[in-house]
Amino acid sequence: MTDLPLTFRIKSFGCQMNVYDGERMSELLAANGMTATASDDADLVVLNTCHIREKAADRAYSDVGRLKRKDGSRPMVALAGCVAQAEGAEAKKRSQSVDLVVGPQAYHRLPEMVAQVAAGQRPVDTDMPAIAKFGALPPRRRSGPSAFLTVQEGCDKFCTYCVVPYTRGAEISRPFGDIVAEAQALVEGGAREITLLGQNVNAYADGQDGSGLDLLIRFIARIDGLERIRYTTSHPADMTGALIAAHGEVDKLMPYLHLPVQSGSDRILKAMNRSHSADSYLRTLEKVRAARPDIAISGDFIVGFPGETEKDFEDTLAIVDAVGYASAYSFKYSPRPGTPAASMEGAVEAHVMDERLQRLQRRLAEHSLTFNRATIGKDLTILIDRKGRLPGQMIGKTQWLQSVFVETDAKIGDMVEVTTTHALPNSLGGILRRPASQSDSKVAA
Ligand code: SAM
Ligand code: SF4
Repeated sequence: MTDLPLTFRIKSFGCQMNVYDGERMSELLAANGMTATASDDADLVVLNTCHIREKAADRAYSDVGRLKRKDGSRPMVALAGCVAQAEGAEAKKRSQSVDLVVGPQAYHRLPEMVAQVAAGQRPVDTDMPAIAKFGALPPRRRSGPSAFLTVQEGCDKFCTYCVVPYTRGAEISRPFGDIVAEAQALVEGGAREITLLGQNVNAYADGQDGSGLDLLIRFIARIDGLERIRYTTSHPADMTGALIAAHGEVDKLMPYLHLPVQSGSDRILKAMNRSHSADSYLRTLEKVRAARPDIAISGDFIVGFPGETEKDFEDTLAIVDAVGYASAYSFKYSPRPGTPAASMEGAVEAHVMDERLQRLQRRLAEHSLTFNRATIGKDLTILIDRKGRLPGQMIGKTQWLQSVFVETDAKIGDMVEVTTTHALPNSLGGILRRPASQSDSKVAA
């Protein structure tokens, strides 16, 4: 028997869906009488892990081993997230320090499982009941200016490199009304921007009448006080005409689309079991740009997928140039146990992968800089979301998700008018836009 924890700390890794899950676990533990702390002295540490690449999964175990409180004792450790889902009871064998294992669909049971640990057990729950957790979580009360809201979970696409269909289960969508109510509560709690989340968010389909993401966005846009809507991550196959039309018609929907392509080579896309070709992806983007000409495109790339040749990789560089990404994430292929690609022949040598990743990232950085430079001198509205490092400096996001550094006495959550003055690959500097009679403030980036 140990004491029930009084304080807790949640450490989330990986995607935005984990950030959302971390917030919900925090609200749940607080509703059960525990206090959140950022200190290393927490009685309970929840490691909300990511399994997408080997490095991310290994990190979970090295973190478990390192957890110690100031007095040298170890906290109660909950292994949550996708590593917990993938490893289940194995995780307890791999590390004696793991006190409980809870999967992403079962964390509504966390308080009960913590009590079981205090009573001397080591519970494991990796059940995947369709969406049951949402009904068992406390209502949203407080929010920062920019909030995440999970609307869809799981994936049926089975890209050959990816663990998500195994760790997050089949595609399921939350009921429309529940999402609108949660969005309303987030806005009442302080949110001015909501990002709708899903592993394949644009596959969202309400269980009752099949309403899609486009309709959900149109409904949420009616909420007074909500200024900005975003969504991520999308699959090219689910970019419907209705969703594309919403980009041209819903003012609150920001002109930004994260649409991963993964590779520019049709041969590799086929081996990845992506259902698009390079050409069909470009045609989809043409339609999106016709609906919303100022839209910024972002993407994900994998280099070194088994069998990738120099020519395949050059096709990837070609699609990068054809699209002109505003921003992007790029990764070296990481074989994941149990996925079809893990047993494919033609492994790409590590040094070749390294070199390709560097070339790709250089090219992507050039495009980001070009995109950012094209916004210099524009009058933009930014949503302030954090403090900068310099005194008086704040950072806010443009409609295109660029970070702008500006000197201002505005507070987190304010929408501020700025003129952008200079650009780096990952940020912009700006000055406050003032009436002509007032002097300009200094540039701060
Ligand atoms: N559903 C999204 C889509 O269709 O593109 C992606 C979600 S996944 C969680 C995020 C990104 O991780 C993927 O787009 C892919 O680039 C990367 N990724 C997934 N599995 C990977 C692997 N085995 N090795 C390297 N990168 C991987
Ligand atoms: Fe993974 Fe995305 Fe492919 Fe689903 S669509 S298997 S989440 S990469």
